[in-house]
Amino acid sequence: MTKYNMYNKKIYLDNAATTPTDPEVLKAMLPYFSEKFGNPMSIHSFGQEASEAINKARKQVADFLNCNPEEIIFTSGATESNNLAIKGIIKKYFYLSKDSNLSASGKPHIVTTAFEHHCVLETIKFLEKSGQAEITYLPVYEEGIVKLEDVKNALRPNTILVSIMYVNNEIGTVQPIEEIGKLIKSTNDKISFHTDATQAVNYFNCDVEKLNVDMLSFSGHKIYGPKGVGVLYIKKGTPISRIQDGGEQEFGLRAGTHNVPGIVGLGAAIAEIKNQKSKIKNIVSLRDYLINRVLKEIPDSYLNGSKEKRSPNNINFRFDNVEGESLIMSLDMEGIAASTGSACSSNTLEPSHVLLSLGLKPEQCHGSLRLSLGKDTTREEVNYTIDKLKEAVERLRSISGKVLEEFN
Ligand code: PMP
Repeated sequence: MTKYNMYNKKIYLDNAATTPTDPEVLKAMLPYFSEKFGNPMSIHSFGQEASEAINKARKQVADFLNCNPEEIIFTSGATESNNLAIKGIIKKYFYLSKDSNLSASGKPHIVTTAFEHHCVLETIKFLEKSGQAEITYLPVYEEGIVKLEDVKNALRPNTILVSIMYVNNEIGTVQPIEEIGKLIKSTNDKISFHTDATQAVNYFNCDVEKLNVDMLSFSGHKIYGPKGVGVLYIKKGTPISRIQDGGEQEFGLRAGTHNVPGIVGLGAAIAEIKNQKSKIKNIVSLRDYLINRVLKEIPDSYLNGSKEKRSPNNINFRFDNVEGESLIMSLDMEGIAASTGSACSSNTLEPSHVLLSLGLKPEQCHGSLRLSLGKDTTREEVNYTIDKLKEAVERLRSISGKVLEEFN
């Protein structure tokens, strides 16, 4: 190996967990920590300067999503955006319906999938457990794709919200959001349709008109922007309440002093995406090269989720008789950063709910590995990773074989 990538001379293949802040993005942010430190809600010139910067970022995001700037709400990240979208719709529903007796039979109904990110799933489960909503969890089958027919069959007269992620964070499978949106709107245009687009923004069309969505969430740090800042697009007229009380920031929908440097960074990062389009082809070709070589050269290896309908940067393998965690540690010792799945659940030993939703057995889930490529990933890095992966799988299998022999 002569050239590793720019990050501490290591190979970073965990871009679905987070991406490094682009140097140009960081440059745009820096003045807003120091000389341009004003609070955008202040009416003096310091405040106005910060307010203008936020307006510019709001316009950058609105241009990208093809919506009005007033439809963009800045938050602390996709977790908060998803909480606001889901709880905000339910809160407004109870506010609007005079009879807010939760034990009444007319509970609102939400449709989602079994493999959403925890911040969607746990929010929805909370509403279910606290008796505020009835939920339908759609299956995603072996391919990790929702069926339109299932969405259609799930809609009821009391359905008020459908929340389906655009790209899954663990297995990278892409959902037919545009078609689902069309179906929902033609069935009942009072139903709000939300998509968590956190893993989609870098690679897929996020034109909210085209997608037929009422709400769309994402985070800055997955698009070479900063952490701690995110967006919730809310279509004008969507029946939603704030869920956090306080000041009147963000059109009254998100109280709390703005993260000005973060918002400026998110705006700069999103404006950069259109310049990265040419890199997508290269990422797809590296992804397919890596998948094909590993499946061919490592026995008993499998790809989790659809091969065709998947994000350009996502690879999720499964190896029989190998512990995913041990594999990550072996690769880390060789300077390669990978993951077993969601960074948010990597501290638990529970099998991934995403892999279980594909119909895998718990022991199969434990042998999984996610490699998520980035815009700077090179073929040299991919070749090195394949070599080290082959060595690690072979070594770990021979250790587990020896342990089994000793037990027998
Ligand atoms: N949704 C998806 C699909 C994600 O991948 C993530 C981050 N792993 C989140 C939501 C949450 O993002 P954040 O931690 O930035 O709030």
